Amino acid sequence: MAKEKLLPLKFEILAECKTSKARTGTITLVHHHVDTPVFMPVGTQGTLKGLLPQQLEELNCQIILGNTYHLGNRPGTEILQKAGGLHKFMNWKRALLTDSGGFQMVSLLQLAKITEEGVKFKSPYNDTDCMLTPERSIEIQNTIGADIIMQLDDVVKSTLTGQRVEEAMGRTVRWLDRCLSAHERSDEQSIFPIVQGGLDPKLRSKCAHELTKREVNGYAIGGLSGGESKEDFWKMVHLSTDILPKTKPRYLMGVGFAADLVVCCALGIDMYDCVFPTRTARFGCALVRTGQLNLKQNQYSKDMRPIDESCPCSTCKTYTRAYLHEIVTIETVACHLLTVHNIAFQMKLMKDIRESIKEQKYPEFVQNYMLNVYPDKKYPEWIINALKSVNIALL
Ligand SMILES: [Zn+2]
Repeated sequence: MAKEKLLPLKFEILAECKTSKARTGTITLVHHHVDTPVFMPVGTQGTLKGLLPQQLEELNCQIILGNTYHLGNRPGTEILQKAGGLHKFMNWKRALLTDSGGFQMVSLLQLAKITEEGVKFKSPYNDTDCMLTPERSIEIQNTIGADIIMQLDDVVKSTLTGQRVEEAMGRTVRWLDRCLSAHERSDEQSIFPIVQGGLDPKLRSKCAHELTKREVNGYAIGGLSGGESKEDFWKMVHLSTDILPKTKPRYLMGVGFAADLVVCCALGIDMYDCVFPTRTARFGCALVRTGQLNLKQNQYSKDMRPIDESCPCSTCKTYTRAYLHEIVTIETVACHLLTVHNIAFQMKLMKDIRESIKEQKYPEFVQNYMLNVYPDKKYPEWIINALKSVNIALL
């Protein structure tokens, strides 16, 4: 009997909102299934700061993100190869996504230089010249072994305009083709191309159209959430999801604020990642449906309530705001406790989003959500406009 070709990614849409572009579904990957829309917490050195893989499982986390740049440096591909990939190395049995390493490089290393060949940089460890090419990025990601891997793209600041943006968009498409040719594990891993094009609608749509000509299992939207106006931000997302095929998952990179997630789900996004929930936990901030609590503030010093009475997480079941106030930003255990809560918060928000789409109640969910955050109804203009574009009017 002929061996059946493995599909590294299967996307099944379970329900679509009849008003907006929101949808809910399941992505089946080699290591685990993922319910969408999904928020993916970001691990750096093969670990999520403050949490064990087992705790992530307990929080119902189905997929996490690993940084290729960091993993490629430390432990390095040789060790990862020996370990049999990152899943085994970090003992994470569920799904993984890795970025290409390019963005980290450009944002962390001042001296990174982009040429047609790749990203040239000085090693931060021994000052030698190195080059991250599309081929090398895929080689590293093939070794790491994540279920979803990202193409190397030419990243420019989202606020940049002019010729450089067009050059970066064209190069991103050319690099995608090099990534696809270099890919050696296409029956286990899916490469997602990245829609670039800055804030120029023409370039964005040209890029999105170009990417849809390639045979891939899903798409990402990149180069946003980098300081551009929120009005520009949502328009680029809206435009991209209009072009990208409905039958494949769409991943919006670097977005994780709760209100952004609620809006972008209405615009048809299925996947998100962001360091914000875990980073803000380290600074003593706990996420709640009305915004966030900065537990360092004195008003919490005698507050005997949990962070959120309705939160089922182990931190809220066990500790008071007053206790957390005493230890935040001083004790590492506080970082752990707040990270647990903030991840639980993101997971619960996404679950509520999925359920309301399934029940054909997403517009009502969005209305109630926003009213809860803005009880005086002073909604930000961009939220009103973004939601109006998909037929949702706020209360
Ligand atoms: Zn909690």
